[in-house]
Amino acid sequence: MKKIQMVDLQGQYEGIKNEVNASFQEVFDSTAFINGPQVHSFQKEMEEYLGVKHVIPCANGTDALQIAMMGLDLKPGDEVITADFTFAATVEVIALLQLTPVLVDVDPETFNIDPEAVKRAITPRTRAIVPVHLFGQAANMDAIMDIAREHKLYVIEDNAQAIGANYHSSEGKTKKAGTIGDIAATSFFPSKNLGGYGDGGAIFTDNNSLAHTIRGIVNHGMYERYHHDVVGVNSRLDSFQAAVLRAKLPKLDLYNQARRDAAQKYNEALKGESQVITPVLAGKDDTHVYHQYTLQVKNGKRDALAKHLQEKGIPFGIYYPIPLHKQKAYEDPRYNDKDFPVTNRLVKEVISLPMHTELEDDQIDFIATTIKDFLNS
Ligand SMILES: *Cc1c(COP(=O)(O)O)cnc(C)c1O
Repeated sequence: MKKIQMVDLQGQYEGIKNEVNASFQEVFDSTAFINGPQVHSFQKEMEEYLGVKHVIPCANGTDALQIAMMGLDLKPGDEVITADFTFAATVEVIALLQLTPVLVDVDPETFNIDPEAVKRAITPRTRAIVPVHLFGQAANMDAIMDIAREHKLYVIEDNAQAIGANYHSSEGKTKKAGTIGDIAATSFFPSKNLGGYGDGGAIFTDNNSLAHTIRGIVNHGMYERYHHDVVGVNSRLDSFQAAVLRAKLPKLDLYNQARRDAAQKYNEALKGESQVITPVLAGKDDTHVYHQYTLQVKNGKRDALAKHLQEKGIPFGIYYPIPLHKQKAYEDPRYNDKDFPVTNRLVKEVISLPMHTELEDDQIDFIATTIKDFLNS
């Protein structure tokens, strides 16, 4: 058996080596390191793949979230509702822009923002909702869009973990995660489902005027050279990253399928094991792209299982070990710990298993067998 890795970028590189090396060479030869033709082509190819009017590349996923919010007419003190159970980047940018983050609990099956909790958190100052499509599955966007319409709120999707996932709406339409709300942000961090070989990110929107605003914001607030109409930032995707992403994008659906196949094998191998809950797919026509394959471990055994996996040389991740409302940076006297029963439980029960496009059957069997032997010993 090959050594098990949490993410295997080497194996995936082997499959696209010739293309990536050739396009790197093109970037070297052109010396158009910033805003080169690769970036423009990638943008167009991504728009086509997603079925969205505008993709605006930028430097990383955190910037993408921040810039998306800068593009909307939000003012300091405006409240932005997001999930308590997510990576800190989501809430960080809200706070950085002097908006007021309002964290709410998540759904116990999908780990995604709980629409009922969103409703309870709405006040006259609420201006936006940021659903995070956590671990590769879209949040309940039908419910979120309904709430947003009723209360006239913006919806900013954090799609860093669900690129390529399909969401089937109650109207019968299938859309890509990240193309449903007003605007979305994604990340091309190397370990994401569509990852570069360095940092990268992008913003998606169907709104022409918002796209125009955002294109200026990413470029120092310039709409005309050396005319700075708004306070912007410098956030660019470089040509090398665009070259890698162009080689990977045509394979994204295959990569996501490889992850689904691996998830299916884990599910099968762990079937009947009453002390773990395997990932739950919410909508039967939705697709999960398994950025993470995350178990809930019952009976207080998560930490002991983690220790056991470590001893057996099996990597794992605890995403996320602390609810955001308990993080020093985001504590707020308005929060009542009792309002976060799901997140408070998940942080003690979740464990993410190795998940990538190169996982082999014997590795999955070994991981599942190790888990079952431990839980039943
Ligand atoms: C990775 C990630 C981000 C941030 O992306 P970076 O490219 O690392 O800045 C934001 N939100 C979520 C949910 C993420 O997983």
